[in-house]
Amino acid sequence: MFDNKDRTAIHELGEFGLIDYLTKAVEITEPSTIKGIGDDAAVLDFKDKKTLISTDLLLEGVHFDLRYVPLKHLGYKAVQVNLSDIYAMNGKASQITFSIGLSSKFPLEAVEEIYEGALIACKKFNVDLIGGDTSASTQGLVISVTSIGYVDEHKIAYRSAAKEGDLLCVSGDLGGAYVGLQLLEREKKIFLENPNIQPDLEGKDYIVERQLKPEARKDIVELFDIYDIQPNAMIDISDGLASEIIHICKASKVGCKLYEEKIPIDPMTYETAREFGLDPTVCALSGGEDYELLFTVPQDQYDKIKNQLDITIIGHITEENAGCEMISKSGNVYPISAQGWNAFRTED
Ligand code: ADP
Ligand code: MG
Repeated sequence: MFDNKDRTAIHELGEFGLIDYLTKAVEITEPSTIKGIGDDAAVLDFKDKKTLISTDLLLEGVHFDLRYVPLKHLGYKAVQVNLSDIYAMNGKASQITFSIGLSSKFPLEAVEEIYEGALIACKKFNVDLIGGDTSASTQGLVISVTSIGYVDEHKIAYRSAAKEGDLLCVSGDLGGAYVGLQLLEREKKIFLENPNIQPDLEGKDYIVERQLKPEARKDIVELFDIYDIQPNAMIDISDGLASEIIHICKASKVGCKLYEEKIPIDPMTYETAREFGLDPTVCALSGGEDYELLFTVPQDQYDKIKNQLDITIIGHITEENAGCEMISKSGNVYPISAQGWNAFRTED
């Protein structure tokens, strides 16, 4: 994959040289960081706030395919998907640790690109890189990110706190990351069959970016603060709307009604899904990787929510025995399940 001519082998630097090289551009700007990289542990101080911590592990061949994921995007996305978990608690992300396992095929320049992407994400989201670990890997590239943040105790949005009567809301639009992935997979196949054909992604920037360069919704958490909106329950959409709705309903011991016609889907997602013979609703429900926020708010906050351009009310919370249901565009009622959406579609 890499032309290793003119590339620097990592063993030339050694582990400590590598860490120094990669982290030379790291700046500390967050007041809660007392000590970052350079000692046995970082030191943080959150004063009267509650601390939030979340970790993700990303494995080459399982979570990403280096044949179409640029390394810089990979570093960026690894940070984004992790920060998303802090925002999903209604918190502010403040630090990350970034750990990598590198196979011998990686020259220094490749690792540098990953770090470049990670540091762009840190800068954009005002997060300090405060440490990590570095190791050789015999199984391809491994990345693990831990993000740390804080929140006022009364603002924490647990999955388990949805109440009957709450409005069910989602930020942004859904299904784009999944349709973008289908497009990249198709172009990869064409390329593997004939390396002279360049990928044809023209006019598809939005959905390709949704897949390669997702943006965690820090802005939505800030908007909650500005408009004094307190979500009861919240979760980020990593696995698809259906699965996240079920997580909230199970944890909160409630049911819900979801309206298919309300699910926000971007026109490019819609059209491209159709080109692939996919149902756009199924892409939103089961696709995943959109990293939008799904949350519930009490009905009395309707006036604050209704004018937010980037938030859509897609249903409401019911009592547990009513189950999790979707009302289709044609008015039929279907149980929501984490899998098996294709099955329901054949009956519609
Ligand atoms: P230890 O032997 O205690 O694990 P290391 O030599 O691995 O220490 O790390 C030294 C310092 O460099 C620590 O502050 C650690 O957090 C940081 N560090 C190590 N690897 C990375 C990395 N990939 N990215 C950022 N910081 C790192
Ligand atoms: Mg170490």
